[in-house]
Amino acid sequence: MGVGIIGIGASVPFPRALADRIEKALGTDARILGMVELDEGSFNARRKQYDAEKLLSYLNGLWLSHWEEWGGCRAVLGVTSVDIFVEGMNFVFGLATLNGRSGVVSTARLDPIFYGEKRNDELVRERLVKEALHEFGHILGLHHCKNEQCVMSFSNSLAEVDRKGSAFCPECRKRLGR
Ligand code: ZN
Ligand code: ZN
Repeated sequence: MGVGIIGIGASVPFPRALADRIEKALGTDARILGMVELDEGSFNARRKQYDAEKLLSYLNGLWLSHWEEWGGCRAVLGVTSVDIFVEGMNFVFGLATLNGRSGVVSTARLDPIFYGEKRNDELVRERLVKEALHEFGHILGLHHCKNEQCVMSFSNSLAEVDRKGSAFCPECRKRLGR
């Protein structure tokens, strides 16, 4: 099985740490697959943001055509630094298809620099690990979790991202078969 992680428009930040944490939490291989160009067809000129749904379609297409080259991975997570949205929301940290083949995470709003604050790579890395695990959780069939400590709890603000842990709660672990 295994999963893949790919940079969209830039290489994956903190690749070793990210792959390592995902492998440990999911109990499966995580491969860094390099990077692909940003899909400009996903750009919404009015909002000046990228459409997360369209980026998922883009990743699905890539997964279909690169599946063999990517070692037959179960799914791929795209990591991008551009700001992403879904219709009806100002922004999202990430998006994935439930039981699907792809997910996407944006570091744009995970970065203190976005808010005019001081650079903090360690903080960005921890936030990215949480959001990446959250989207892989959806890919592996998990819904949002009511446990506020669980990585599958829904985060609509940075405060919520920082409050939750980077682990799946026992209930979610059970559903993952872990
Ligand atoms: Zn979610
Ligand atoms: Zn949970």
